[in-house]
Amino acid sequence: MRGSLKLFTWFGIPVHLHWTFGLIFLYALWIGHDNNLDAISTIWLMGFFIALFGCVLLHEYGHSLTARRYGVETKDIILTPIGGIARLERMPEKPMQEFLVAIAGPMVNVVIAALLFGISMLIFDNERWELFKYFLKNQLFLGDDNGDVMEESGIAMSGILFYMPVLVATNIGLVVFNLIPAFPMDGGRIFRSLLAMRIGRVRATRMAAIVGQVIAVGFILFGLWQGAFTLALIGFFVFTTARTENTMVQLDDMLRRYKASDLMRRNFTRLSDNDWMKTPMELLQHGLERSFLIFDMSDRLVGALEEEDIVAAMKKNDSSAEIAKYMRKVELVHTGQSLQYVYYLLTQQGHSIIGVVEGSDLVGVIDDTGLQHFMRLQAAAKV
Ligand SMILES: [Zn+2]
Repeated sequence: MRGSLKLFTWFGIPVHLHWTFGLIFLYALWIGHDNNLDAISTIWLMGFFIALFGCVLLHEYGHSLTARRYGVETKDIILTPIGGIARLERMPEKPMQEFLVAIAGPMVNVVIAALLFGISMLIFDNERWELFKYFLKNQLFLGDDNGDVMEESGIAMSGILFYMPVLVATNIGLVVFNLIPAFPMDGGRIFRSLLAMRIGRVRATRMAAIVGQVIAVGFILFGLWQGAFTLALIGFFVFTTARTENTMVQLDDMLRRYKASDLMRRNFTRLSDNDWMKTPMELLQHGLERSFLIFDMSDRLVGALEEEDIVAAMKKNDSSAEIAKYMRKVELVHTGQSLQYVYYLLTQQGHSIIGVVEGSDLVGVIDDTGLQHFMRLQAAAKV
């Protein structure tokens, strides 16, 4: 991913640090400066931030490794100041699998919190254990400021007794926050998967996205009002991704219901590979077609000529070149092929025109203009 630094690869998944992550360290330095912390305390503070993001990273691995059990790989994990993102190739479509993948992240933090709590019980003597529990309660229920208590009791404002309760509380906080049903946050995915078991994935996504967007607006307003800008930023992220994911699922569902034959055009201009580039140049200027299929002398399909190839020839004033010089490989689909695959070829693979065959006969073409037109019609018909 652009603007990020690769840290390492673990379990075959690259872990990236987004450049804005540097802000966290500046923030730690600033807190250190603001509280007149000495060097050792500042190092403790930084260590705490690293531990915190270690917990976030393990949370993401919870998602990734569970997804792997269902054959879904993770492209990478990115750590940003507002949290981690495990970029899964896709979400498992079976609701039960999505449920388990989504809940695995928060469950990791439950385990970490329990482990740290257990370790604290072991390593602290009686007096410190009482303090630990007191601090933890303060952290969880926003009680007295631990710093003041520590100052009074003469304990340093750094070190393990200071940070352990904060770390346990933060892990509990991560569980609670992530379980908020604001799709596409974990809680929202859990919500969608539970809904999908009853009303199907498409309708479930639409509902989850609406709930997610309402909560996201709440995050933004509350964040701006209270000066919690991280929350406002997360709200903004949730709002936009909820909309994108919903659009994708609805689009995917629509595409699945149609076949290549529903969209193909039977009338199209056939060009010969030994014709001059002048012909497609003129067609492009005067006609509606922007990409063409190319045939040889014995009328066999040999390639495609797309708008950008024609424009390339125009730039070079190459109108007397043979079409064969500029044509490219052509992709074919069967009439029964789902539009989902056609969409993939035209939008992801960068083809502008594909041939449609029935048996061994070429019966039509689908081009990007046709696809856009079709999608506009679908969208208009739905409202
Ligand atoms: Zn998560």
